[in-house]
Amino acid sequence: MKFLPKTYDVLVIGGGNAALCAAISARREGASVLVLEAASKFYRGGNTRHTRNMRCAHDAATDTLTGPYPEEELWDDLLRVTEGETNEELARHMIHESKEMLTWIAEQGVRFQPSLGGTLSLGRTNSFFLGGGRAMLNALYRTAAKLGVEVRYDAEVVDLDITDGFFQSATFKQQGKPCGVKAASMVAAAGGFESNIPWMKEYWGDAAENFLIRGTANNRGTILRLLLDKGVEAVGEPTQCHAVAIDARAPKYDGGIVTRLDCVVFGIVVNKNARRFYDEGEDVWPKRYAIWGRLVAAQPDQIAYIVFDAKSLEMFMPSAYLPFTASTVHELAVALGLDPAALETTVQDFNASVRAGSFDHTILDDCRTEGLQPPKSHWARKIDTPPFYAYPVRPGITFTYLSVRVNKEARMVMADGRLAANMFAAGEIMSGNVLGKGYAAGIGMTIGSVFGRIAGREAWRVVRN
Ligand SMILES: Cc1cc2nc3c(=O)[nH]c(=O)nc-3n(C[C@H](O)[C@H](O)[C@H](O)COP(=O)(O)OP(=O)(O)OC[C@H]3O[C@@H](n4cnc5c(N)ncnc54)[C@H](O)[C@@H]3O)c2cc1C
Repeated sequence: MKFLPKTYDVLVIGGGNAALCAAISARREGASVLVLEAASKFYRGGNTRHTRNMRCAHDAATDTLTGPYPEEELWDDLLRVTEGETNEELARHMIHESKEMLTWIAEQGVRFQPSLGGTLSLGRTNSFFLGGGRAMLNALYRTAAKLGVEVRYDAEVVDLDITDGFFQSATFKQQGKPCGVKAASMVAAAGGFESNIPWMKEYWGDAAENFLIRGTANNRGTILRLLLDKGVEAVGEPTQCHAVAIDARAPKYDGGIVTRLDCVVFGIVVNKNARRFYDEGEDVWPKRYAIWGRLVAAQPDQIAYIVFDAKSLEMFMPSAYLPFTASTVHELAVALGLDPAALETTVQDFNASVRAGSFDHTILDDCRTEGLQPPKSHWARKIDTPPFYAYPVRPGITFTYLSVRVNKEARMVMADGRLAANMFAAGEIMSGNVLGKGYAAGIGMTIGSVFGRIAGREAWRVVRN
């Protein structure tokens, strides 16, 4: 196999937010840096292309954030969503470092804008990228190029030469042929394994065939697998992931944000037997949207239907697809391929249990069901005003949490407890260190940016020393 003639100080594997933050950070410290991105230039940037915002602690309102979000509050939020399944030392370190991130990332050319409407009420806590994730990435790539970071596209890394925690070289595919590259240190920022359906099936069984992947088809976990096989310690439970309910008509990969459906709280959700299976009004939507992927994954054939009526049609952000519509519940069931009598019974039982209240979807209102199992605890209104509507939904997997273990310097930890000599990780591939389960909107980009910046700096430090 041929090797590239140059040996780099830092090799970065991946081409999303975590990779670019690492590359820029290492280069700014003085390292020579090569980025290997599996995607073509047009599709560069993995899941980061689809993002809109990130969640960083800050002590005061800014031009684009409506108020302070202290470190302790972000920690409380993380603790709540993960139900304590997080590494406190790493998480607190990330949160502390996130305060600098809003300035640092802006220094790399990224611009922010005020929160968009209909985006889960994040105006105080989350910074929105002007132009979205794609514009954010373009800014990072521009800065990296200006600084002299080298990038190769269509360069999927397929093997790593690692001996006893010491990285020596990587093999990547270039126009179908293997090519080697040597580097003094390495940062793995190649995402999770969400796009690898056979791997997902090891834990989810055949259900995984029905999962839709919201982001890139390139995050197949090749690097994660290689690292774990070569002795890096695993962290996180393999079925834990971020998964939301998305339109069942979305493409298998890369449907992005426009396929997500935020109308669960306005109606009822039934499975293919036209039966309800969970409290649609359990809590405010920003705290619950990320549980619905798993809930639908547990239903027969991994399909469900959000059913609502004309009163709610314009109360949520529309998705890329039109809802199914009909003038009766019976006809709606026929259009969806459900048993009409079963759906009519479910809707009638639901309607009969609704207790009158003052409907307000911005608070935990008093509109609820009585004597119904499962209950709908808030925002319960009768489904009685035609036309009737429904969206079919499937589990939309955003990213997986099974990870390589890292320390505060983003340095990989080997299964025998020793630190890897020259291997670092950032982003999804180490997200399980912080996210044992659950999710707080915007934290994916915080994990990538904070640990990417640290990983790049530290990867160069071990070389320099
Ligand atoms: C639809 C959608 C919306 C989202 N919205 C948000 C949001 O608003 N805020 C937020 O915080 N998070 C959001 N997320 C999650 C967020 O995208 C991720 O947490 C974040 O982008 C992860 O960054 P990363 O660099 O680790 O991974 P990615 O951005 O996915 O980058 C991984 C890179 O590795 C490359 N790669 C993979 N395998 C190889 C290989 N073998 N060799 C070379 N390269 C390889 C891929 O091509 C890709 O470029 C969203 C995700 C999706 C799918």
